[in-house]
Amino acid sequence: MPLIIVTGLPTSGKSTRAEQLHTYLAERIAAHNDKTKYRLHLISDETQSISRAVYDLSPTQLPAHVRSANASEKDARAAVYAAVKRVLSPRDIVVLDGLNYIKGWRYQLFCEAKNMSTPSAVLQVGCAVDRARAVNEARLERRKQYQEDQKQEEPAQAETEKSKDVEPYEPANWDNLVFRYEEPNPMTRWDSPLFTLIWEDDAEQTRQVFGQIWDAVAGEAKKVVRPNQ
Ligand code: ADP
Repeated sequence: MPLIIVTGLPTSGKSTRAEQLHTYLAERIAAHNDKTKYRLHLISDETQSISRAVYDLSPTQLPAHVRSANASEKDARAAVYAAVKRVLSPRDIVVLDGLNYIKGWRYQLFCEAKNMSTPSAVLQVGCAVDRARAVNEARLERRKQYQEDQKQEEPAQAETEKSKDVEPYEPANWDNLVFRYEEPNPMTRWDSPLFTLIWEDDAEQTRQVFGQIWDAVAGEAKKVVRPNQ
């Protein structure tokens, strides 16, 4: 790769930033006159068709066999891991958009990059808890509205409308994910270099941070941790 791990609270703007970063990196790769052009990949729960419900640990939402082993989230992580590993190479830049909220998971990804002698970095998307919650509540409201509308509409038309919207988290699932979130720590190897963008950061600040990420993973200053280090 190089691997760029996007992390942040649920509905905090991670996919928005990941897509902006993907666009920025595509431009940089196009302008990069190195012989070995990088290839670019964006991997997310959405690209892997992983439902928000896999993170749901609330007893009312999940059947007992899933709850006991937390199997569905484990399976989801295995699918993401396999997708990352499939494209793993020093010539492929992977933007991994997701909650990536468990430090052990970020460590595992860091080790995978290290095994490939390719750099990794973390982009934390910062957002006030209340704002992130409001985004999820608005999505829940739209889904409710859609379900009510569906009763009156032609199913085919309703399906088209639905496909435009992003799946919300159930409120208890959302609260639980915020509670379980393990903040990246730049003092650890696997969370560094750590870059941060907050909701309010404008286009100029965003480009500046993206430029720093490029320098860290693909530029002259890139730091590759070798497997034996
Ligand atoms: P996540 O991937 O964390 O669930 P999204 O990227 O889907 O979050 O963003 C949730 C919503 O917030 C989207 O409607 C998006 O347009 C909006 N949004 C995200 N980041 C920003 C931002 N920095 N400024 C304004 N709106 C934003």
